[in-house]
Amino acid sequence: MARRRVFWLVVLAAVLLVALTDVPAAYVFAPLLGVAILWFGVGSLLSLQQGAAHIPDGDPSPVDPTAERTMYWCAGCGAELLLLVRGTATPPRHCGERMRERVEILRERLSDDR
Ligand SMILES: [Zn+2]
Repeated sequence: MARRRVFWLVVLAAVLLVALTDVPAAYVFAPLLGVAILWFGVGSLLSLQQGAAHIPDGDPSPVDPTAERTMYWCAGCGAELLLLVRGTATPPRHCGERMRERVEILRERLSDDR
């Protein structure tokens, strides 16, 4: 927050410098633009360093394979995954896309419920 305040004070000082003196605006604003681009780039890279912030809280829950089989299918390459332990309700990603969930309720389980 303090860095933002300093940045905007420097921008205000640069605007006043250009308005009140005959210093060309390019000589004042070009370094400021460079600092802003560097600030944005470093901020983006530091956000990648923090890693996966979406890891869910709580323990994973085992899936009962006798009741249902949950499969995830990748539309990009056709890979399939069988879910054994559910960590979160969000489907995993493969080939950069969310995988499609397919739940198969076993026929024996259906006949038991009737
Ligand atoms: Zn894939």
